[in-house]
Amino acid sequence: MQYKNRNFYIESVSAANLVKKFGSPIYCYSKNRLVHNIEIFKQYFKSTSPLICFSVKSNSNSTLLRIIKSYGYGADVVSDGELKKVLSIGFDPSKIVYSGVGKKKLELDYAIKKNILLINVESLSELKNIVHLAKKNRKIVNVGLRLNPNIDAKTNSKISTGRLQDKFGLNEKEFLLIVKKYKHIKNINLKCLSVHIGSQIISNKPYNKMLKVIDNILKKSDHKFSYVDLGGGMGIDYLNNDKIIDYRVLSKNVYNFAYKNKCKIIFEPGRSIVGDTAILLTKIIYIKNSLNKKFIIIDAGMNDLIRPALYDAIHEILPIKKNRSTVLMEHDFVGPICETADRFLRKKKYQKLDEGESLAIKDVGAYGYALTSNYNLRPKPTEILIDKSKFKVISKKEKVQDLI
Ligand code: PLP
Repeated sequence: MQYKNRNFYIESVSAANLVKKFGSPIYCYSKNRLVHNIEIFKQYFKSTSPLICFSVKSNSNSTLLRIIKSYGYGADVVSDGELKKVLSIGFDPSKIVYSGVGKKKLELDYAIKKNILLINVESLSELKNIVHLAKKNRKIVNVGLRLNPNIDAKTNSKISTGRLQDKFGLNEKEFLLIVKKYKHIKNINLKCLSVHIGSQIISNKPYNKMLKVIDNILKKSDHKFSYVDLGGGMGIDYLNNDKIIDYRVLSKNVYNFAYKNKCKIIFEPGRSIVGDTAILLTKIIYIKNSLNKKFIIIDAGMNDLIRPALYDAIHEILPIKKNRSTVLMEHDFVGPICETADRFLRKKKYQKLDEGESLAIKDVGAYGYALTSNYNLRPKPTEILIDKSKFKVISKKEKVQDLI
């Protein structure tokens, strides 16, 4: 995604043309970027050769999932719906892991019948249900035990999952008790220790701590786990300041860890695969001058992209046509929804803008469309995939009529 002669392009397609053709708001994905991310993640961890299960919660568009699958990825799912979707797309069940704190009996039963690689268990009660269902189905079920390693991933509190106060996983004491009690139970196979400490992690420190904690617990557990699932969480550079984890160091540490513990590694990346593959194109409806600032009212709302409202996330907003002017005044980019939280970004200065002009909200590929809603009875936007100079609709805009 880049400017050519001051006009914004996604691969070889001009953003202005897409808005003209499809209206706004629209999610636009770059296939080239997606493939790059898929391959580079594999490359980073080549020495360990992990099973990489794409975290479907970050983006569940069927076309994108098919591309991801075609590069050998498995899937990490967190609901019955996601599981059914990836199976329908043709993901290999032996590459599917299923996490989540509240899987119901019917959902567990379905997953057991489908022989997926792992059900990552988050509580003793869930494990008891699995044992019961495994017996009923006359199966031996492969289970991952999700550990809560009590590590602060130093990310937004709402996407931190590895501290004791978070609802995820089993604390160390519980984990060890369960291993002791359940390692010889016939119908289950405690195959994996799994963790996921949070999302948008930009420092290696939490990962280093996590590996140490797991190493220690593996020793204490006196049980051979064939897999260790290290989750996802690798952050992307939303702020354009190059602060992300050092993959070379992480890869080396993971390699040493896997070698020492003689286990196969699983990763569950979501954001790092799809996050920077998309922009949300939107049009300025009105510009309202207030006493000391301008409200730039755009036609994308928090129903189209909730991350700024929900997580105080910062997504850069770029003009799709650059000019040379600078207006030194606060610009508040807000949506049309009746909520004060429906705000995207504040800028101290910006180029001169006009009503009707289009803008690109950056890095919306992860937890963007996946978190859209019909709030205010607004239809969900179109999604488009761009491949060099070609483009196609990969999910259609909803119609207001469908919602009424
Ligand atoms: N695995 C699990 C269990 C998750 O809950 C999540 C998301 O929080 C992920 C993987 C993917 O995380 P990310 O998109 O930060 O890589």
